Amino acid sequence: MEFDGIRALVTGGASGIGLATARLLAERGASVACLDLDAAPEPFHAVKADVTDDASVRAAVQDAAGRLGGLDVLVNNAGIGAQGTVEDNDDDEWRRVFDVNVLGIVRVSRAALPHLRRSGSAAIVNTCSIAATAGLPERALYSATKGAVQSLTLAMAADHLREGIRVTCVNPGTADTPWIDRLLERADDPEAERVALNARQPSGRLVAPEEVAAAIAYLASPLAAATTGTALAVDGGMQGLRPRPRP
Ligand code: NAD
Repeated sequence: MEFDGIRALVTGGASGIGLATARLLAERGASVACLDLDAAPEPFHAVKADVTDDASVRAAVQDAAGRLGGLDVLVNNAGIGAQGTVEDNDDDEWRRVFDVNVLGIVRVSRAALPHLRRSGSAAIVNTCSIAATAGLPERALYSATKGAVQSLTLAMAADHLREGIRVTCVNPGTADTPWIDRLLERADDPEAERVALNARQPSGRLVAPEEVAAAIAYLASPLAAATTGTALAVDGGMQGLRPRPRP
């Protein structure tokens, strides 16, 4: 199979896009460990860690590499949201969200790189967002973190090119995960909010986590050996298309 012999670590692998990715990579032959605050379900090797805690990240990456016998693929997917304009979040919240969404990728990558260098055909795939490339209302802090993720992806791709490590990212549009369920629960009218989110997608529907997982698997695959420094939109056309409104 495509991922036979490939050892993959997926952060945020206990839920949503990360869990769908862990499932797909395993289905295609990879052995998979999930790093998350929460335990990922069987059969994945669950390593509990907080990506904001360098010591716990180092221990978790070591544990995963030990259990899997090395690492070939790292999916940096753990992330949190934030709502509001620049007036709405205080400095501590800015630091907290950057700590998870950006420095989290730095910490896990730093710990994984020595293992990835030994792979010979390694890939890092970061979960970025449509928020990196489109101005969405009430998402100042979140968008700033994802813009940083997209730039970091390019810089890392350049740094590790000659070490045989490809670095790419996926830019999902609004994806139907527990994240969105939580967002809808907080809305005044959850049903109307879901209709509005669907309508914002040119495709007329939210992205499925399995569709993002398929893009991550493509980028992580040894078959994509010529693809690095690429941001792959999985957004139902939201970034690139300007269709006429539906009748
Ligand atoms: P989710 O909430 O279902 O899953 C996120 C996972 O990350 C959870 O299991 C959570 O425990 C874990 N996590 C959060 N903070 C962590 C920390 N400090 N340390 C370790 N693990 C931590 O969300 P999702 O929708 O699957 O989101 C996954 C990624 O996709 C995020 O980076 C998010 O920004 C990105 N994304 C989501 C959407 C969307 O609409 N759902 C759109 C674009 C991008």
